[in-house]
Amino acid sequence: SGLVVAIDGTSGSGKSSTSRGAADRLGLRYLDTGAMFRAMTWWLLDQGVDVHDPAAVAARCAEPQIVSGTDPLAPTITVDGTDVGVAIRSDAVNAAVSPVSAVPEVRARLLDLQRAVIAAETAEGGIVVEGRDIGSVVAPDAPVKLYLSADPGARAARRAAEQGGADVAATRESLLARDQIDSGRATAPLVMADGAVHIDTTAYTLDEVIGQVVALVED
Ligand code: C5P
Repeated sequence: SGLVVAIDGTSGSGKSSTSRGAADRLGLRYLDTGAMFRAMTWWLLDQGVDVHDPAAVAARCAEPQIVSGTDPLAPTITVDGTDVGVAIRSDAVNAAVSPVSAVPEVRARLLDLQRAVIAAETAEGGIVVEGRDIGSVVAPDAPVKLYLSADPGARAARRAAEQGGADVAATRESLLARDQIDSGRATAPLVMADGAVHIDTTAYTLDEVIGQVVALVED
């Protein structure tokens, strides 16, 4: 049976790059659950739903068809057949995704989709799954769990660079605002899961962090 590697952490901790790189080196598939919450948020905004009204969000969140591709070298995400890989990284989605993700009905819907992907991929070989609640809620039995963190300054600098030279101070405010909501919500808050190995990535290069993850899995 297949292996599940659960990787949680804050925005800009290096989660995505680390998860993709480790999956590639280990020959595993890859699931970005944050992209699913972003796709849901993109669709709600596109539909004109008030994302700050939990009842309105709950009433509509069963509708969009969200499909994640699991190739670590070329992850994809579609909503009702439309590629939203670029659209889900907009400022509008960044600002709305944490309130949307705090709605229990949204989490329940996406949990079902996430578990279905994990079941399909573990039947084949294995998967690296990244998010905020993977080790605690989505895959609590995962044999390898990691929690990545980094100093806010390092996180903002990385995220701003990824976004093609966005303003570092504004990026820092945006990611700290998301962290606060993600850590404070009632349903599945960002926590360090039981049994998770904590890596502070501030002082390491991406290759070094990937090497640490690969070593833990191969151990
Ligand atoms: O990982 P990323 O920064 O793209 O995630 C975007 C947002 O999606 C997070 O700030 C959080 O609100 C939400 N999220 C979540 N649970 C996950 C993954 C992401 O609530 N497992």
